[in-house]
Amino acid sequence: MGQEPVAQPLRETGRLAKVVRTCIGCRKRSDKSTLVRVVAVQGSTATVVTPDLRGTMPGRGAHLHPAIRCLELATRRKAFGRALRVEGPLDLDSLATVIHESAE
Ligand SMILES: [Zn+2]
Repeated sequence: MGQEPVAQPLRETGRLAKVVRTCIGCRKRSDKSTLVRVVAVQGSTATVVTPDLRGTMPGRGAHLHPAIRCLELATRRKAFGRALRVEGPLDLDSLATVIHESAE
């Protein structure tokens, strides 16, 4: 609760506007195109954290690096529930599969 990202020095002035998002795992800011967007899809027993590889799924999204480390960090600090505003059990299997594949 109340964890705001550390303030960044204002260095990006006059540059081309780049879309930057914060990874919910390592909390580093990265170009959106290098991050995986995930959305919460309600399943029968758990909320499925679904990778949105085309960036077209509706709903509240969260972003993280396609890295096992970031997945583990996000899982450990329960960042998915917080970022996606969902409570209860989360199913991270499909996201983990995608991340393990892209991390190879
Ligand atoms: Zn990360």
